[in-house]
Amino acid sequence: MSDLAHGQGVDATCSRAGCRAAADWRIDWRNPRIHAADRRKTWVACDEHVGYLRDFLTARDFPVWVAPLAPAEPEATR
Ligand SMILES: [Zn+2]
Repeated sequence: MSDLAHGQGVDATCSRAGCRAAADWRIDWRNPRIHAADRRKTWVACDEHVGYLRDFLTARDFPVWVAPLAPAEPEATR
């Protein structure tokens, strides 16, 4: 399953190619040409790349929703 940010405790890594940073943001977007109206894709991004990825999508006139990634359920503290 590569559907990110759907369950709890998501250990999300930035969707930007080559970036291994932990994601702080989720970017929900849709390509109106191939996706049904209720279909959304979710990317996640670190602080550094959230703007890049949002711009990448908005430049293509895709609807984009950016929101802070909900904190994962706290696990046992290390
Ligand atoms: Zn990143």
